[in-house]
Formats: sequence, C-alpha cells, structure tokens
Amino acid sequence: MTTSFNRVPCTVVTGFLGAGKTTLIRNVLENTKGKRLAIIVNEFGDAGVDGEVLKNCGLDNCPEENVLELANGCICCTVADDFVPALDQILAREPKVDHILIETSGLALPKPLVQAFQWPAIKNRVTVDGVIAVVDGPALADGQVASDMDALAAQRAADDSLDHDDPVEEVFDDQVACADLIVLSKSDLLDAEGNERARARIEDHLSRNVQIVPSAHGKVDPALLLGLGLAVEDDIENRKTHHDDAHDHEHDDFDTFIVDLPPVLRPEDLEARVNAAVGTGEVLRLKGFAHVKGKPMRLQVQAVGPRVSHHYDRPWKAGEAAETRLVVIGLKGIDRARIESLLTA
Ligand SMILES: [Zn+2]
Ligand SMILES: [Zn+2]
Repeated sequence: MTTSFNRVPCTVVTGFLGAGKTTLIRNVLENTKGKRLAIIVNEFGDAGVDGEVLKNCGLDNCPEENVLELANGCICCTVADDFVPALDQILAREPKVDHILIETSGLALPKPLVQAFQWPAIKNRVTVDGVIAVVDGPALADGQVASDMDALAAQRAADDSLDHDDPVEEVFDDQVACADLIVLSKSDLLDAEGNERARARIEDHLSRNVQIVPSAHGKVDPALLLGLGLAVEDDIENRKTHHDDAHDHEHDDFDTFIVDLPPVLRPEDLEARVNAAVGTGEVLRLKGFAHVKGKPMRLQVQAVGPRVSHHYDRPWKAGEAAETRLVVIGLKGIDRARIESLLTA
C-alpha cells in the first residue's frame, strides 16, 4: 500500500439511481465536522437534482463551489474530458480540500474510473481511499437490483456518451465486485428474511471479505466510510468484473487536446470539418461548443466514433463569451497538427 501525505483521498460512491447515494453523502457532509470536503456528482438521471441537493446543504465544511457536477454523461466513459479537469479545479482550491467524494452515475462501471487514478496526470495528487457501493435493500430482497428499472432505462437512453450497453445486473455485479464496503440502504424496510435475501444476492458476487453495513435514511458513521486508506488504484486489477476482457476502455492510452476556432457560418460547415477529422480514424471522441455567426444559441457538437451530431443546447449567457471550442480525444500519438488543420479548414 502506498500512502503519501500530499495525495488527497477520494471516496468513490457507486450505486444505481434511487439506491440512496445522495442521502448517504448528505449525511456524511453533516457528520464530518472539521474536514473540508468536495464532491464530484455524476448522477444526471434526475437532471442535476443530486447536485442541487448537495449544493444547497448550507454546511461550512462543503461550500457550494466545492460541489462539481459532471453532467455530460457516464463518468467512466468521460474520465478524460470531464473528470480529470474537475479534479484539477478542486485540487487548486484554497483552503485545501481534505477529502473528495465522488458520486458516480448509477450506470458507471467503477473499475475504469478507479483505473484512471493510475494515470500520470493525477496519480501523484489523489488516491482512492475506498470504493463504496450503495445497494437498494428492498429491491434486492425482491430479486431486483434496483427499485425503478424504468428509470434506469430512461437514464441509459438519455446518456449519449455511454459507450457500454451492459445488462444492469452486470453493472450491479461489477459495482459489488469493486467495492471495499457495501451499504445496504433502506434497511428499516427489510424484515429478517428480506435482509437475508438481500445479503445473499450481494455475497454471490463478493470474492473478498467485504463488510455489508445496513443503513436507514442514509445514516452510516462517516468514520466507517472515510479514511479507509486503501489506495484502491493499486489493487483494482485484482478485482474481477464482467468487463475485464471484452470491455477494454479506450481511455487507457490516449491524448486529449483543445482546439479553439473562429465562429462558424453554418453548423453544416463545422459538421463537414468534424467528419473529415473523424475520418482519419485517429479521433475517438470529439465534443464541444460552437459559436454560429448571428445565432444567440450555443451549438453543441459531439462525435463518438463515426457518429457526428450537433444541436443548439442553450442561449449564450449574459457575460459569457461566445466561442468555438472543441475537445478532441484520440489514440496516443494522434497527429494533432493534421486534426487541427482539418477542423480549421
Ligand atoms: Zn461509462
Ligand atoms: Zn465504458
């Protein structure tokens, strides 16, 4: 186990929409006095609701600006373009943050996220203190992995960035397999038999000795959750998941850069240029916003593999500079100059 005084511990909280992640985190905030906390919220199924709840907590140890929402899609699929910049922002804060909580989207696979902590860009600055899976007690007792399967389906449909289409049972297994601690939520709604059924479903997928902690109304002693000091990024390869072989994440080895462009005349022009860049086969993902001349609306642009899409997502805000800025993610060694010239042409 490696520890360093300089590295900020991060707790990863996984679990499906509705399992009780936000309630749990809210409770941690209220009961962790004297530690300065920051939160990265990736749960976007309720249109930013999770982030709002945490932002408005009104607690001194976690001011509003320390709550960052990553609303662009599943965290494990957008690690490079969203998660790492968010970490950078938090680590630059004064006074320094003592601990970071990361609430992942319910559909996120924990392993690729934890693996990101091995990247050179962040590995000397942060460490994964522990991975906590929040599982829905009553749903498990009923033989389901989540209480509202329709909500999960809707969430999946709404997430353009999601690059895995796994059965939710597999995602559940992966979340359990990667966990250092499992919180069995809504335990007050379980009788003894229900409790047994829920535990049996979890233990099916535990290969290690992991504690299962029952919790009602999100209450768990923060001392149990924070400060585990496990440096999970050093152990994550030992945790077997459904996606170890088949789901090789493309962000293990890639380059990311930003391209600033002058305003565009028509969306179709930009689309043609993005198509040309993507056509090189070197671009894995591209996303950003464009200033279309004479338009008060911001044009959102996105390319995932060969699929290029764009739409006006909102008006430019007062005081916000209308600009055209694209983030390009490509394989390591991508010919940046060539991509830039194709996008500029
Ligand atoms: Zn993902
Ligand atoms: Zn993925």
